[in-house]
Amino acid sequence: MTEKKKVCMLCAKPSEESICESCKSNVQGEASNQKQRMEKQVKVGSEVEKDKIVKKHLDN
Ligand SMILES: [Zn+2]
Repeated sequence: MTEKKKVCMLCAKPSEESICESCKSNVQGEASNQKQRMEKQVKVGSEVEKDKIVKKHLDN
């Protein structure tokens, strides 16, 4: 018998989709949190790069 039960791949609860609604919202929440964090880091990183470039110019 190869009856496939559709379950959530994250919490293994019965679900029509591979990821159930609650896990989907969890994942989306985490993803947007990570995105926000990454955007912050990129912003800080580019500020640091800018500082370095400015300092280089001042040194020369
Ligand atoms: Zn789930």
